[in-house]
Amino acid sequence: MKNVVFKFGGAALKSAESIKNIEQIIAEFQPKLIVVSAMAKTTNAFEKLIESKLKGEEIGDQLDKIRTFHQNIITNLFDEEQNEASENLDKVLAYCKAYLDHSKDKAFDEIYDQIIPAGELLSSKILGAYLEETGHNLKWLDARKILKTDNRFRKAIPHLEHSKKALLSQRDASAANLIQGFIGGTENNLMTTIGREGSDYSAALFANFIAADELVVWKDVDGVLNADPRYFNAPELIPNLSYKEAIELSYYGATIIHPKTIQPLAEKNIPLSVRSFQNTDCKGTKINSTADFNGSKSIYIYKPNQLLITLESEDLSFFGEAKMSEIYHSLFTHKLEVNLVQNSAVNCSICVDNDPHKTASLLEEFGKHFKVRYNENLELLTVRHYQTKLLEELLFNKDLIIEQKTRSTLKLLFK
Ligand code: ASP
Ligand code: MG
Repeated sequence: MKNVVFKFGGAALKSAESIKNIEQIIAEFQPKLIVVSAMAKTTNAFEKLIESKLKGEEIGDQLDKIRTFHQNIITNLFDEEQNEASENLDKVLAYCKAYLDHSKDKAFDEIYDQIIPAGELLSSKILGAYLEETGHNLKWLDARKILKTDNRFRKAIPHLEHSKKALLSQRDASAANLIQGFIGGTENNLMTTIGREGSDYSAALFANFIAADELVVWKDVDGVLNADPRYFNAPELIPNLSYKEAIELSYYGATIIHPKTIQPLAEKNIPLSVRSFQNTDCKGTKINSTADFNGSKSIYIYKPNQLLITLESEDLSFFGEAKMSEIYHSLFTHKLEVNLVQNSAVNCSICVDNDPHKTASLLEEFGKHFKVRYNENLELLTVRHYQTKLLEELLFNKDLIIEQKTRSTLKLLFK
């Protein structure tokens, strides 16, 4: 039997119906390892919970909402009222409440990582209990004890050798193993997360550790499309992509797969399939070292909520290598990635995702060394394999702020 790893994200885990659908997929294809993220928008709900608590607001209602959402799914899946999944729900939410009541003076990123993994702990227990109930030979694994990381909370870096050993020794090679994506643990048993939407990356690491034959990421679209259906009409499926093209697309912000997913797979030449959990007849997109996309179609990647920061030296001194390396160092310590950068002699503009938890203190730090201006609520559109004749149409009615072109890639930052 093939040694396959499956990953299911929040959209695949949003109701009792969708869990039943996952069970069918697992029964049909018999994966060796199943990686899950939190259900539906649960990660966002826990983020809001933390924000409210830190502002001193009452969080009882928000906790109740999270509880009711999960409890309804549990009630729909199991006959017994008291079961493993509902006991776990009580336990996890009681822990979150107690932790938030006693953590006020800790750093935000640390608090975040002690709460956010609750989403994955809930989803994996519910799916696990249901798979057992439906007769699967299942081993539930705890990613906090397997994905060992440093303590860079919210962007923790996995220790690969340790994690690989832990997975190989804790999994049961004769069963279907179920594990959480996105979360890990430090040496001192604190919880960590590896960056939003990171469970694809976890799945790729696990596939690498067990030298899988394939990783399949199950999505609510047919595969990798040439544009995001949330923002563009009639996008088309791309059947084959090389690792290289896939890495470029995800790096520029295509949300279909996390940018770090490709490297661990390419290292062991493990193919990645992106397929639809709603339409299992469709083969989706195959990503591997040979398949190539010939660039006949333009691929559009859209990123809203961009912040453009413009730095100017106070004394008309140059933006040379030394200054640029300091700027990049600040971006790294603030856990921000640069989406676009443009320099002139005495100023430098940097475009990043606008996450106020990171950008507020970055702007403050830059303010100590530079004259700082910034522009919020911008949109960044990256077009791979752009066709010049379509550009005018794209830019119609837009206030273009920066345009950058290489032979294969066009970036447009606009308002
Ligand atoms: N649940 C996490 C998130 O929403 C991780 C993931 O979905 O990959 O960011
Ligand atoms: Mg998610």
